[in-house]
Amino acid sequence: MIEVRRDVCVASGLCVLTAPGVFDQDDDGVVLVRGIPAEHAEAVAVAVDECPSGALRLAPGGT
Ligand code: SF4
Repeated sequence: MIEVRRDVCVASGLCVLTAPGVFDQDDDGVVLVRGIPAEHAEAVAVAVDECPSGALRLAPGGT
């Protein structure tokens, strides 16, 4: 399960580039979850590592 803290997202868009099947951005660039993280677990893990604001976190138990 992915945990997203939209209040700390800085709208970099890196997660959308890394896992476009899961992440999207609203009109302000703030992250949205559109896909099913478990179906893109490897890309989601990379997106979590690369998020510059710490807005993404893998909850215990995986994606
Ligand atoms: S990588 Fe992090 S800061 Fe950038 S849009 Fe995604 S959640 Fe927001």
